[in-house]
Amino acid sequence: MTIKSSARLSDRTWMLTFDDDISVMIIIGTKFTVFCDTHLGPDSIKEIHQFLSLISHPDHFFIFNSHSDWDHIWGNCAFPGMIIAGHITCRERMKERGTFDLFRQMTKIRGHVNIKLPNLTFDSGLILEEDDIEFSYAPGHTIDSSVCLDRKDNILYVSDLVEDPIPYIDYDRIDIYIRTLESLLRSSADIMVSAHSGIITRDLIRSNIEYLRKVSRGQQIDTASLGAYEKVHKANLNTLIIFRYEKLVREKFGDSYSFDRFWSDIPDPEETDSETTEEYLKILIHKIQPE
Ligand SMILES: [Zn+2]
Repeated sequence: MTIKSSARLSDRTWMLTFDDDISVMIIIGTKFTVFCDTHLGPDSIKEIHQFLSLISHPDHFFIFNSHSDWDHIWGNCAFPGMIIAGHITCRERMKERGTFDLFRQMTKIRGHVNIKLPNLTFDSGLILEEDDIEFSYAPGHTIDSSVCLDRKDNILYVSDLVEDPIPYIDYDRIDIYIRTLESLLRSSADIMVSAHSGIITRDLIRSNIEYLRKVSRGQQIDTASLGAYEKVHKANLNTLIIFRYEKLVREKFGDSYSFDRFWSDIPDPEETDSETTEEYLKILIHKIQPE
């Protein structure tokens, strides 16, 4: 069993945490059993089904993808013919990078994975009225991030938008990210669930905002206090540099821009210092030619 713990957050809502500390949220509605994210593949989903077999639940499943990062969507393929919902950009981003991420992170798959895109997309939001569940676009961690609110019990699944001690920045609009986190602070939720940090507090959201503000102003961060997340900070600085160059390459190549080609040449952002990344990209954009 790779589900290491289950937490009952309300009568109908559960947080299941796997052995890699990634959590998914399950809401047992009256019409649908709603999955917030699908972890690393069909083997993870099999375990969730085993867990659900002990609880009465609708066998209509509704799958929500909080964003298109690989550690949240590889179990999608275990739900053939079912609704998989995500923001419009979640489908686009998964289409663009899904296979690339699958090959790159291959060792982490659980079961036979193929990329299955959301088949129901929304713009600002979507509501399952009969189950009293609301999905809202919440860009920040990535351009395609969304949250899920269990309106009946005031439980909000924030996925990767908030992380302890600092979040991954995978979107170049930190101003929008901060705005999203500020809106989470104002939300009516009594319980908030982060995919990598479990149940989180508003204080953590405030300190994530503080971190983002410092990064956007180019201020020094006290990395000694971050522990293992020192690498995340390093990756964040590099990602912002890479995005700057990727934008130039996208503009230069238009429709013939190749995500795989550009990103396969990029050194690991967690292992490289910012100066080296910048130098490397300066040379790279001169070398890249249209196919
Ligand atoms: Zn994640």
